[in-house]
Amino acid sequence: MTLHHLPTGTYQTRAALAVRGGSLRDKRPFAASAVLVRHPKGDLLIDAGFGAGLSQHIAMLPWYMRSPHEAGRTAAEQLDAVGYDRGRLIGVVPTHTHGDHTSGLDGFRGTPIWLNVAERRYAASLPDSRVFRHVSAGHEIRSYDFDSGPYLGFPVDHDVHGDGSVVIMLAPGHTTGSAIVFVTLPSGIRYAVVGDLTWQLDGIRPQPGRTA
Ligand SMILES: [Zn+2]
Repeated sequence: MTLHHLPTGTYQTRAALAVRGGSLRDKRPFAASAVLVRHPKGDLLIDAGFGAGLSQHIAMLPWYMRSPHEAGRTAAEQLDAVGYDRGRLIGVVPTHTHGDHTSGLDGFRGTPIWLNVAERRYAASLPDSRVFRHVSAGHEIRSYDFDSGPYLGFPVDHDVHGDGSVVIMLAPGHTTGSAIVFVTLPSGIRYAVVGDLTWQLDGIRPQPGRTA
């Protein structure tokens, strides 16, 4: 079992919009990444980052959500470049449905998207999920339930493989169905893919919290 970070680009936002006490003059790069988790029972992509249709996707956003961005290779391009077998991929799990996390779904046609009920409802109508509605068209959407737990103080979770290696938690706030995906490697090292629970490391280290 392994974990791979696939950076697909960055976009720029002012620190004041990201972390309490941040300056309006302080422009910060925000990462748009995908994470591949390889597992003997099937691989998962957590978030999809920027996709090939990024320019079109940005044009779909409300004007106040458009920001300067730099796009690198998409997650699909990076996997194809190393000869990755797409047949291993059992799903894409967005931490939530905002466009900077789901634009890259356009490179994974035929792969199911895993969503919890709350996020599926959130994505159905809100303007900030327009990109998701566009790129998810034609995908199978697979619902998952929070049917096990407790885990790390969270009362319920979804244990993907039943072995505690990939565990999804509901962490609403940024969107109603936002999720954290905990990945524990055989070495014991544990990662938490937090989506937009926070945007900058300032929001995780002992610092004031995020602004919105
Ligand atoms: Zn978001």
